[in-house]
Amino acid sequence: MTDQPAKVALVTGASRGIGKACAKALAAQGYRVAVHYRSGEEEANALCRELDNSLALKADVANLEDCKNLIKITRQELGRIDVLVNNAGISIDQLITFAKPEDFSKTLDVNLKSVFNLTKLVSKVMIKQKGGRIINLSSVVGYTGNSGQSMYAASKGAITAFTKSVSADLAQYGILVNSVAPGFIETEMTSALPQEVQDSILNGIPLKRLGSPKEIADVVTFLASPAASYITGSTIHVNGGMFPN
Ligand code: NDP
Repeated sequence: MTDQPAKVALVTGASRGIGKACAKALAAQGYRVAVHYRSGEEEANALCRELDNSLALKADVANLEDCKNLIKITRQELGRIDVLVNNAGISIDQLITFAKPEDFSKTLDVNLKSVFNLTKLVSKVMIKQKGGRIINLSSVVGYTGNSGQSMYAASKGAITAFTKSVSADLAQYGILVNSVAPGFIETEMTSALPQEVQDSILNGIPLKRLGSPKEIADVVTFLASPAASYITGSTIHVNGGMFPN
């Protein structure tokens, strides 16, 4: 029997935070990982030196041409794409009265249009391969809303609706599409919040701590695994009990 080549995962925004943890967790399961970054070249290259058979790739996921290149180079260099983790994201926080239309457009471009672009492109690859997994990062804020985060919440709530619809489009091809909705996780995104906001967040978490990037990565890895073969169109909430799931 010939050895099958290791499966390939493309993780966006893998230079730090949750994406980096996902890249590490998938590599630990034997995946060859395309480590996507936008500005964190040094961090992405450092991560690739840690992982076997990985590749650092730069792209602005808000830009369709960049997304096309990202998929093309991943396939050229690693041969296939079995798992796409749509993780790259930004949060521009502002009360609605001060929110700028250009910031709303940017949030939707980076958090949502990128997911549309990459899902559309990778679905063609996965259809040819007769299967695959797409895992999108939503957020608890997409469900609960949060003062000052209307732009971010709108982008993340839309991920859930997108995930459900695309899962129905792609089920016939053996492609499973799910999302993970983290609560508040210890990354640069949350450490950028003012201390009083961080304190009030902690108060609202029944487990009384922030989550770790690894705790999200473990669920992403589960959704990529054979154990999740009957799950599609779902959102898994990983939030320390912040609200009834
Ligand atoms: P970080 O801010 O730590 O990292 C964000 C990543 O996204 C970086 O790798 C960054 O790349 C990349 N990125 C940002 N903009 C772009 C762009 N235009 N094109 C390509 N890449 C881009 O985020 P987290 O790890 O905290 O969050 C990861 C995901 O999880 C996000 O989608 C976020 O919304 C979601 N999430 C996070 C929560 C949290 O508490 N941290 C809670 C709920 C959801 P680079 O650094 O190379 O520029």
